[in-house]
Amino acid sequence: AAACIAAGRDPAGVELMAVTKTVPASDVALLLDLGVTALGENRAQEAGSKVADVAALRPDAQPRWHFVGSLQRNKARAVVAWAHRIESVDSARLADALDGAATRALDESRRTGPLPVLLQYSVDGDPARGGVPADALLALADHVAGCRALRLAGLMAVAPQAADPDAAFADVEAAAARLRAAHPAATTLSAGMSGDLEAAIRHSSGVVRVGTALLGERQLASL
Ligand SMILES: *Cc1c(COP(=O)(O)O)cnc(C)c1O
Repeated sequence: AAACIAAGRDPAGVELMAVTKTVPASDVALLLDLGVTALGENRAQEAGSKVADVAALRPDAQPRWHFVGSLQRNKARAVVAWAHRIESVDSARLADALDGAATRALDESRRTGPLPVLLQYSVDGDPARGGVPADALLALADHVAGCRALRLAGLMAVAPQAADPDAAFADVEAAAARLRAAHPAATTLSAGMSGDLEAAIRHSSGVVRVGTALLGERQLASL
């Protein structure tokens, strides 16, 4: 809220997603009790069992689980079973795998509508950390827009560790505007983590993905 006010923005315009990777289901249940409903996970296997455990602990809660990590195509089906949104689509091959899984889920009435996805944008074009580079962004957007069971909802980005966050998020903001110009419904921008959410909010982020600042240092090494 303070970052929004400093940026002259309405705090209601920025969603707080709690990134709960490595955090036990019992702690996620406490987050739900506190009113946090947007949750993020980055590992398919860990997330799948946690989603089930949290549902058992809080059967009446309605958390929205987001997948924010790098995703192998052979895990697409498992993640589609519980994901409210996938934020890390960075290749046509992954989009096709998700589209296939989501199509099957629709056909079998396990989903009622297309699966929202964000394109993960690479600020520095380094393929190691995932993300689609600037020069391939719009082609990937067109591809995803043509996937029957996916809904292109916007952009996600992680600022490179060494970068100045304001410069990085200014670049992300421009990429999001290019995406929106070509695909007007792709309005969501997910940018900003514990260390750089103020800069992301200055550059029109609509979703901040916060782990450490809410939940403390993670015990296990995990990106
Ligand atoms: C871990 C993670 C976060 C949260 O990072 P913190 O620095 O702990 O807030 C956000 N986004 C992604 C993609 C992550 O993997």
